[in-house]
Amino acid sequence: MTVYGELVRLKSEVPSCYHQSYIQTGYRPINRSILTCIKSAFWPTNEMLNFWTHFISLILMVSRTVRIMINFENKFEVVKFPFYIHSFGTCYLLLVSSIAHLFCCYSERCCQRCFSVDQAAVVVYAICVLLGFDHLACPMSCYGIFSGVTRETYLTGIVILTVLHTSFSLFTLKSPHLAAWRTMPCILMTILIVLPCIIRYTNDTDDPKCFPLADKSFDQFAALCFLAQVFFIALGGIFFATYLPERFYPGTFDIVGQSHQLFHICVSLSMYFQSLLIENGLNKASEQPTVSRNNLSVTWACTVGVFSLVFVLTHTTVLLHDRTRPNIVKITKIT
Ligand SMILES: [Zn+2]
Repeated sequence: MTVYGELVRLKSEVPSCYHQSYIQTGYRPINRSILTCIKSAFWPTNEMLNFWTHFISLILMVSRTVRIMINFENKFEVVKFPFYIHSFGTCYLLLVSSIAHLFCCYSERCCQRCFSVDQAAVVVYAICVLLGFDHLACPMSCYGIFSGVTRETYLTGIVILTVLHTSFSLFTLKSPHLAAWRTMPCILMTILIVLPCIIRYTNDTDDPKCFPLADKSFDQFAALCFLAQVFFIALGGIFFATYLPERFYPGTFDIVGQSHQLFHICVSLSMYFQSLLIENGLNKASEQPTVSRNNLSVTWACTVGVFSLVFVLTHTTVLLHDRTRPNIVKITKIT
């Protein structure tokens, strides 16, 4: 066996739960030590770039957040909480995804647990994006179909949706008949997150009565950031769902260029533009007198409170699911 042959396996040589569509080789041997899993980040396997694409993004996002934070005069001002929460949610998802891809070869059980936590991290990330957008970019109460609904009511509905989404995703994993139902809370959440921004940035003017930070000119930079993040998340979704390009050339993109790596890159770029958009909103808020900032109604309960509640509920759901599911089923990569 060649040196490379000792490091990787064919698809037929690993358990079926590890099989990836249209990927023929480059699989890591399983039931390895933690140290071997870490070393495998430097082997040419089909998980190598899945790990690095998100781990490098994590380092860049942490350094960007720290660099911005250093310049804050008052780091604990409540208006900055949505920015912190969005940064944390982004970094958390990138970290969990990196760990899941790296340590999947430790054991089947470990892999299953990693990607279950990954599911919770996706939901936590979604609520962080929503809190960032709702407070600093495009509040639902201004632009959405629920205009007039209080932020508290809106966020209560969102918290219920996040728990439903996590529960549906995990507890119905074995049932192909429930696949459509599994996606419903996710689709609804996505609509609730992006709809206010679509309405705001596809109109030519901002209504100062609706969004207290908007001047009368159209915020072109924010609109471009929003469109860029939508573009990259949609492009990533296409790669994720269609398995392009390996679908047409099975075996050619096993190590470099497979759809999951392209999906990771698109997700990271989308996160970057989201962060720019929220930072832009925060900068606008910081330029305003305190009375205008107060109109944003950023409260501890609607930021840290909601985030903490969703974090605990989603991870508790993952824990309960882990205790009630003894069998290994096909491992589904979420991020
Ligand atoms: Zn992934």
